[in-house]
Amino acid sequence: MMLRGIPAAPGIAIGKVLCLDSEEFTVPDRNIPKGEIKREIQRFKKALDQTRKEILLIQDRIIKEMGKGHAEIFNAHLLVLEDTMLIDEVVTQVEKQRLPVENIFLKVIKKYINVFSKMDDEYLKERISDIDDVGKRVLRVLMGKERKTLQNLKEPMIIVSYDLSPSDTAMIQKGHVIGFATDIGGRTSHTAIMAKSLEIPAVVGLEDITKRTKNNDTVIIDGIKGLVFINPSEDIIKKYRVEKKRFEEFGRDLLKLKDLPSKTLDGHRIGIAANIELPEELPSCIAHGADGIGLYRSEYFYMNRSDLPAEEEQYDAYKLVARQMAPHSVIIRTLDLGGDKFLSQLDIPHEMNPFLGWRAIRFCLARPGVFKIQLRAILRASVEGKLKIMYPLISGIEEVQQANQLLNELKEDLRKKRIPFDEDIEVGAMIETPSAAMTCDLLAKEVKFFSIGTNDLIQYSLAIDRANEKIAYLYAPTHPGVLRLIKQVIDAGHRSNIWVGMCGEMASEPSFALLLLGMGLDEFSMSAGSIPKVKHLIRSVKLSDAQKIAEYALTLPTAKEIETYALAKVKELVPDLADVSYAEGLEKKVNE
Ligand code: PEP
Ligand code: MG
Repeated sequence: MMLRGIPAAPGIAIGKVLCLDSEEFTVPDRNIPKGEIKREIQRFKKALDQTRKEILLIQDRIIKEMGKGHAEIFNAHLLVLEDTMLIDEVVTQVEKQRLPVENIFLKVIKKYINVFSKMDDEYLKERISDIDDVGKRVLRVLMGKERKTLQNLKEPMIIVSYDLSPSDTAMIQKGHVIGFATDIGGRTSHTAIMAKSLEIPAVVGLEDITKRTKNNDTVIIDGIKGLVFINPSEDIIKKYRVEKKRFEEFGRDLLKLKDLPSKTLDGHRIGIAANIELPEELPSCIAHGADGIGLYRSEYFYMNRSDLPAEEEQYDAYKLVARQMAPHSVIIRTLDLGGDKFLSQLDIPHEMNPFLGWRAIRFCLARPGVFKIQLRAILRASVEGKLKIMYPLISGIEEVQQANQLLNELKEDLRKKRIPFDEDIEVGAMIETPSAAMTCDLLAKEVKFFSIGTNDLIQYSLAIDRANEKIAYLYAPTHPGVLRLIKQVIDAGHRSNIWVGMCGEMASEPSFALLLLGMGLDEFSMSAGSIPKVKHLIRSVKLSDAQKIAEYALTLPTAKEIETYALAKVKELVPDLADVSYAEGLEKKVNE
């Protein structure tokens, strides 16, 4: 059987399945005599205590092995364990119903999850995975069950699950988990982003793979085309073994380009940088030959924790990144929350249209206290290397002016206190809204660079929710409307003598990258693993040819025709790259 999903991280994996969601608890339902109720409640409190200790131990180990960022999620888990409403409800129900505590606890957890999932609120949905995660831990302690964990796997496994909880992903050890496939998710979901940074082949948005597989089934994950084969024939396995070998050899070959310049055949140097979520990803960026960091999604620093990061903590993180990447530059994108990224510690009300709501720069300007802490930390860290600041979701010139006003006040204050910072620190704007794209000539007067965020720009210009798999087939980076906006941004930037980069996923696809190169894009920024193939493309074509290709592509009337044309050109000019490009765009998916 073959399932088609959304390709989340490229590569091929062949192996046995471990179903993470198959963990069912059969709880006892005997009657508890009145005299034993007290003991039952004590057992519950002890289990909460033991779970707490377990979580603290894991958190400690993960901090040591993978860094602080990966361990933040456990703070949210510890909060669930302290939720007095939940604890009181379990205690009251045990007293009332006189059933074993694991029976009551499971019911209460299910009730919470059920209520939260009906609320249709992205923030609460994020909490569901925390409650589920912690709930299972407590049940395991109560019932003396061993945890089926992603750690200590005896043989390399392919994980199949509805979704991967952040704590599961944090525990993944490379080499033990060789691939994963999930029911839900899009290319920009947490799971997909982590898969890409860990370089584990993954397919997401498969809808019902958890129902179609069981433990120890053999599956093939094709993270390039977004396919999953369940118990395939020997022939298919053989074919994919060859593919896998070829893909991996090709990857190793491409890594040899690491220290070579990303220069076109006719001698034009093009910037190639990495996107990161956490500072722990820096070694991988360096290993893949990134010229710098084109997008540091700083909001990950604020996620999965119970408090807001203080200035000192942010300063330490930015300092580390600046130092490690020096002399290359690091673009710190200021807090971009909202849309599908929510923070528990900020009291943000539920909105009907979070992607069109109180998010990113809009939130920061409304909460200058939070914003200024971050800006001050960046300014202070700027003497340690080459930092740049970038504002997300700019929709008009006033937002840049207001943000710059705050930045100038902070600079003045630092000068007065004789605290050093880089006086020449560059400030840029993300171009993610059609209004920003269409007023780039005006925006260019306020900033030193643009970075086009196509993940959002495409969703806003085509009116396609980027996280909705039902309409994913309409999410077309090569839509003439999108390409015209991009061209307009690049041209306006160049007319004003500022450079224009792209940090949306579109930049990481060879066929799209060929068009962008021809349209004059100065810098391509992407997840570290995608860098070698785009560098290879840049080094294999002439800028003058790419320009002709882009010029012709812009005369074509449909996204499909442009995509097919660009892919054919990649095949012709860089044949070995054609196989690692998505033949059908980024987000097309229909189950077969
Ligand atoms: C984008 O919108 O293209 C982008 C890079 O930002 P994010 O994916 O974090 O919204
Ligand atoms: Mg964005």
